[in-house]
Amino acid sequence: ALAAEEGFDADQIDADLDGHGPMPVLAIVGRPNVGKSTLVNRIIGRREAVVEDRPGVTRDRVSYEAMWAGRRFKVLDTGGWEIDVLGIDAMVAAQAELGIEQADAVLFVVDATVGATDTDDALVKLIRRSGKPVVLCANKVDGPSTEAEAAYLWSLGLGEPYPVSALHGRGSGDLLDAVLKVLPEAPPQLFGDGLAPGGPRRVALIGRPNVGKSSLLNKVAGEDRVVVNELAGTTRDPVDELIELGGKTWKFIDTAGIRRRVHLTSGADFYASLRTSAALDKAEVAVVLVDASETLAEQDTRIISMAVEAGRAVVIAYNKWDQLDEERRFYLEREIERDLVQVQWAPRVNVSAKTGRHMEKLVPAIETALAGWETRIPTARLNAFLGELVASHPHPIRGGKQPRVLFGTQAGTRPPRFVLFASGFLEAGYRRFIERRLREEFGFEGTPISISVRVRE
Ligand code: GDP
Ligand code: GDP
Repeated sequence: ALAAEEGFDADQIDADLDGHGPMPVLAIVGRPNVGKSTLVNRIIGRREAVVEDRPGVTRDRVSYEAMWAGRRFKVLDTGGWEIDVLGIDAMVAAQAELGIEQADAVLFVVDATVGATDTDDALVKLIRRSGKPVVLCANKVDGPSTEAEAAYLWSLGLGEPYPVSALHGRGSGDLLDAVLKVLPEAPPQLFGDGLAPGGPRRVALIGRPNVGKSSLLNKVAGEDRVVVNELAGTTRDPVDELIELGGKTWKFIDTAGIRRRVHLTSGADFYASLRTSAALDKAEVAVVLVDASETLAEQDTRIISMAVEAGRAVVIAYNKWDQLDEERRFYLEREIERDLVQVQWAPRVNVSAKTGRHMEKLVPAIETALAGWETRIPTARLNAFLGELVASHPHPIRGGKQPRVLFGTQAGTRPPRFVLFASGFLEAGYRRFIERRLREEFGFEGTPISISVRVRE
């Protein structure tokens, strides 16, 4: 059975993933029974997190708001998921890993009266790999007699161990001071794409030279604005332009670069590719223009790949549709099947910048792609889907072993990113199969999606 059926609180996980707001997040990581919940109670100053005197007791993974020295932050108790199928050590590692992923800083808790165990060493490796700032808490130092035990924890290589008694409060002030030193004031970024939300949606109009970018831009922006912006483009580079389309305002990125025609001198390709990647950096969605009247060029597919690899929503616009005859149309369909399989999910519009054909289809396509890009599948729904999928289409047996998907969660949006936990290495073919089925089930039209697999032996 997948973890979704085993009672961890999927809604709470989703709330945690969504609801960070502008507050930085501190993840409390450690083995079961080292005192994480007790410490969380101490930090938030309430008796809310449940504490039971039993290792690995089932508890929801929860986050609380906390305040220290006038600063607000979120505390994520990673002690919660009881994923039986993974076994205790793997379970601890899995939840720590997801906790660390969500966090801006990590508070690593070790039981000083026990000392560092193998599981602690494994957790240290995870924390190191994340590159996140960490503070080491040597817990259960209830009095001066146990203080020496804490000093042994220097050996973990995480710097100074702070001796604390979560139960009595001893040392917790110093610990929190140390935490605030490494915790950023606000999360560095709210979204996977590193772009601030809000404002007009940002569109990059890209494509190789002569496909009709400036013609399309002129068509959608109206001729008047061209002159004005061409002037601006000479003083500042690049220049973005606000354009009204379909009743909304859109920000077209680097229109100055599109309008200033670059003639074919040596290095023009390189310049164009730099400009494309700079525009992609700033954009949320890429409208990739190709010339439908000509055979798809290698440069076209390269530009499409750039947009996909940048993790942007993608719309493909086939321009110069007015120049197509029946024969070309036939070959075009076959070209698309052959050369654009990797972006079958991208909405296509067949337009003509010259005649204005199907210009009105551009905005719905862009909106579809942006919606796919921002889709989040609730964890419970995802796991119900994965459970059925794995039952009906198990991974092929390899060398007497059959890797299984244990559970999954969507770790982010813009674009959607999934993390699957599996009992063994999943073959590329099987990962592609999962992606295909995910798209069939949930859409994701117009967006790349990424699936990473974490193996739990
Ligand atoms: P978690 O599984 O890491 O969340 O650990 P808990 O917070 O549930 O604590 C496990 C047990 O350790 C409980 O019985 C706590 O009362 C006890 N405990 C936690 N912190 C301290 C401490 O500072 N000193 C002592 N003596 N016991 C503690
Ligand atoms: P850019 O280099 O991508 O900005 O391409 P341009 O907009 O400069 O267009 C290159 C050439 O293709 C120009 O001669 C345009 O007039 C022509 N063109 C652009 N769009 C269309 C179209 O939809 N139909 C036809 N027939 N020609 C077009």
